[in-house]
Amino acid sequence: MLVSINPANGQKRAEFPELSDEELSSKLDLAAQAFSKWRFSSLDTRKDLMNKLIRNLDIHKDYYSKLITTEMGKPIRQSIAEIDKCITMAEVYTNDIDRFLQDEYVNTAHKESFITFEPLGAILAVMPWNFPFWQVLRFAVPNVLLGNVCLLKHASNVQGCARELEKLFVESGFPLGVFQNLPITAAKVEKVIRNPHVKAVTLTGSEAAGASVAAIAGSEIKKTVLELGGSDPFIVLADADLMPVCQNAVHARLRNAGQACTSAKRFIVVKDVVEEFALNYANYFRNVVVGDPMGDVDVGPLASEAALREVELKVQKSVEMGANVLVGGKRIQREGFYFEPTILTNVRKGMPVYEEEIFGPVASIIVAEDEDDAIRIANDTKYGLAASIWTKDIQKAKNLARKIEAGSVYINAVVSSDVRMPFGGIKKSGYGRELSLYGLREFVNIKTIIVE
Ligand code: NAP
Repeated sequence: MLVSINPANGQKRAEFPELSDEELSSKLDLAAQAFSKWRFSSLDTRKDLMNKLIRNLDIHKDYYSKLITTEMGKPIRQSIAEIDKCITMAEVYTNDIDRFLQDEYVNTAHKESFITFEPLGAILAVMPWNFPFWQVLRFAVPNVLLGNVCLLKHASNVQGCARELEKLFVESGFPLGVFQNLPITAAKVEKVIRNPHVKAVTLTGSEAAGASVAAIAGSEIKKTVLELGGSDPFIVLADADLMPVCQNAVHARLRNAGQACTSAKRFIVVKDVVEEFALNYANYFRNVVVGDPMGDVDVGPLASEAALREVELKVQKSVEMGANVLVGGKRIQREGFYFEPTILTNVRKGMPVYEEEIFGPVASIIVAEDEDDAIRIANDTKYGLAASIWTKDIQKAKNLARKIEAGSVYINAVVSSDVRMPFGGIKKSGYGRELSLYGLREFVNIKTIIVE
């Protein structure tokens, strides 16, 4: 049984039965049957259905947003923004899909040479709970438009969202089997990957889950895309305009209660301005409103008791190793899974908050000697998802951006993916890309055709 618990009060809200082996196997057969027709459907048909899906997302926005907040605890305003972002992404892909799938002609020694982009089949998506609609749709929308069919293994704690996502596709008119939800635990993922109908896997989640899924898929010679964790640096140079930078730093760390892969986690500030930065940043943090995510709050609970406990332990251990608590530092004594917005200073190499991803509302301030030292610290991590640099000198920031080991660098802006730009990581943050043309091309057969 998969259980959904409301993180705002710790109460069980629903249970979802797991698929039996027989039910799972018939869903995988249905995916293969659906693919045999869907792959030859016209682009106009696919776009019409996607436009219906976009309308349905808008019509049910209120319901979906409340469901997201009830299942994983993000403030309702942020859940609404998540659905809005899905709508924009689906609109952009629907507009661009003809151009993205056009054959490419190449001049060679042959009479005619061109490249086609064809679907692969059923793709399994193993997804996390932190953006329960966005993570799924940013994968599913381009794949369904290009002719693949999708199988969703969603996180166990957001099975209500998973069920609604399947309903959304069916009620928008997509043929049965084009998008299916598989209510299963992680233990059954191997069986799905090894099924011959499944052609590739994408996983968004932790390093451990990514390594396990990629190893199984590798043994079956099936492609994977991995979108894993991050410990993104937020680099503040001496000439930065500190007040607006601090305001942005609050949003960069605290949206989704700090549970985003691209949340800024390490605030690397050059020593000339670190005191002033810390003072202002602390003032903003003290005024953040924490509370029931259905209300008008900035920060809600963490998604689960286990998530809360993990953050608590990493903070405690870092403090034992010498970090100072400037603001917050402990769980909030009330029902639900709340942690105080926290700023730690005197953060040094070796501490959990320096070395590991902290998936909660905890900012670590790290002092850099100068700009070169800031870049050295930014790269001193096993992760490489995204980064931001804050300075008035744009040319300097552009030069520094090239030295940062990450999939994206934002200059004077909070990291937030954009459908028109590729998104993904390097190092232990994973490989492959989502969004834009690059994301669309991950699960296609790039076929060469030569005519003589
Ligand atoms: P998680 O434990 O890895 O869970 C993610 C998904 O993987 C869930 O569906 C989970 O199922 C499944 N899973 C877990 N272990 C598995 C295994 N051994 N084999 C197959 N599937 C497995 O991740 P989380 O801690 O819930 O989510 C947060 C992590 O995701 C963070 O590290 C975060 O940075 C990362 N993330 C990355 C991105 C990105 O785009 N790069 C975006 C969002 C989140 P169950 O729920 O049933 O265990």
